[in-house]
Amino acid sequence: MIEAITSEENREYPVKKISGSDFSFTSLIKKKSKVNVSSCLQCFTCTVGCPFSDLMDIMPNQAIRSIQIGEKKSLLESSTIWLCVGCNSCAAECPMGIDMPSVMSALREVAIQEKVKTIPQDIYTFHKSFLNSVKRYGRAYKIGIMLSYKLNTLDLFSDGKTGLQMLIKRKLNILPSKVKNIRKFKKLFR
Ligand code: SF4
Ligand code: SF4
Repeated sequence: MIEAITSEENREYPVKKISGSDFSFTSLIKKKSKVNVSSCLQCFTCTVGCPFSDLMDIMPNQAIRSIQIGEKKSLLESSTIWLCVGCNSCAAECPMGIDMPSVMSALREVAIQEKVKTIPQDIYTFHKSFLNSVKRYGRAYKIGIMLSYKLNTLDLFSDGKTGLQMLIKRKLNILPSKVKNIRKFKKLFR
């Protein structure tokens, strides 16, 4: 436990240059995510608990700060918004109840709308494949998501062994199944 705290203290977090304030961006993200980012205390708990922060170029607490100060460009161009998997670890520990997955989702939506050039295409393709599956079936049809991703990226042969093992262990359903009231569900995507 002590070792973990010591290594966290010694860790270097990236420092980003601020390119300019756009407070309409702040309002937009607040509106889309329905999260009051102004209440963030910058306590750092989200960043410490995030399993992917080592890979991110802007830490989760910095992402919230960027929104507060209208720092739009670097945030929308960051890898962070695409690396967040919405695991909710940060939100569960946040003293202010900031719903980080909703914030990240709103940021991705705006990045797509604004055709940000640095969107990692493989992650974006997976994102689309996943959402299409949820829209169509009301749940994640894993084989369909994998096939769609593979065909769109032409990365046909990697992960084959893992896929086969999952099939053997019956972790994958061959055929999709829909939730009962799929029409109602589809309204969420309008
Ligand atoms: S845990 Fe919550 S309050 Fe603390 S920095 Fe993260 S978002 Fe802000
Ligand atoms: S929801 Fe995103 S930012 Fe929060 S802990 Fe999970 S991956 Fe990290």
